[in-house]
Amino acid sequence: MNLNDLQQHVGAVDTLPDPQSGYFLKLIEEVGELAEAIRQGQAGQPTLETLKGSIAEELVDVLYYTLALANQHGVDLQQSFDLKEQLNRIKYQR
Ligand SMILES: [Mg+2]
Repeated sequence: MNLNDLQQHVGAVDTLPDPQSGYFLKLIEEVGELAEAIRQGQAGQPTLETLKGSIAEELVDVLYYTLALANQHGVDLQQSFDLKEQLNRIKYQR
């Protein structure tokens, strides 16, 4: 799946628990879990058996809620990523 596919998938399967703050608070919660996984050194590509608590799992959780927030706020994340890269090419001369 590319970024557009992922965003559409999240939009299709997700149910919003709290329309006012649910996705943002979940994103922050998952960032905290990512910090803990990094601190515990749970690096590398896990298997299904070792996924729980890994950096990989928490990165996916962060991505999931980022995509959900993009859907909630009408943002096309692929298009926005491309625009931001254009700005970064100018800013960092790359
Ligand atoms: Mg998590």
